[in-house]
Amino acid sequence: MAGFSRMKTKIGIIFDDGIKKSTLTTAKLFEEYKLPAYFGVIAEPGNWSPNLVKGDFDLWNELQSRGHVVYPHGYTHTKLSEIPHEQAVDELRRCLDAFTEMLDGFNAKEALYAFAYNCGTPSLCEWLLPRVRAVRIGGTGFLNEADLKSRIWHNVTHGPDDPGDHLLDHLQQCRVKKPPAFFYSLHGIDGEAWGAIALDKLKRVLDLITSDDTFEYWHI
Ligand SMILES: [Zn+2]
Repeated sequence: MAGFSRMKTKIGIIFDDGIKKSTLTTAKLFEEYKLPAYFGVIAEPGNWSPNLVKGDFDLWNELQSRGHVVYPHGYTHTKLSEIPHEQAVDELRRCLDAFTEMLDGFNAKEALYAFAYNCGTPSLCEWLLPRVRAVRIGGTGFLNEADLKSRIWHNVTHGPDDPGDHLLDHLQQCRVKKPPAFFYSLHGIDGEAWGAIALDKLKRVLDLITSDDTFEYWHI
């Protein structure tokens, strides 16, 4: 069987938007599993979702020092596909500059850029790819080897209701499809945000990923 060992499906999960309370809960939970949590955060949230308390770079640096990973999700939470290309590029540039300045040890070439609203257009992906390790756009989340090599990783999400069952159902689909990787985005815990997952559902997801031979945790 040399050369043909069925690889496990790598399961990648990223938590978007940096909502403070959920972020702290998420980090603590992943520490119980001895796994890094992945966060996509906004440099300057401004007026976006004013009812949600967002973290800041002090918190992102603290999370990094605890072993978690913080990736850019936008300079603001603007839908870049709906503004002129030059303006969108300016947002991307400001975002990478802000992370370089504010996030300890940040190196864009090692980072995933997780587009807000998964709104990455082909031309914006083309601008980013020489500057970052990979970009995240929308799609099915089932990634084949060519997708992984392209460094344009599509992911799937679910909301505004609890995405727990949707995610667990997709993990079941992974058993059948056996993709090399599967990529999912979450947005907060226990009702705090759009598409927040119940903490006990998230525990079930982590139990499954860490106990089942079909899966391995993807260090995205
Ligand atoms: Zn977002």
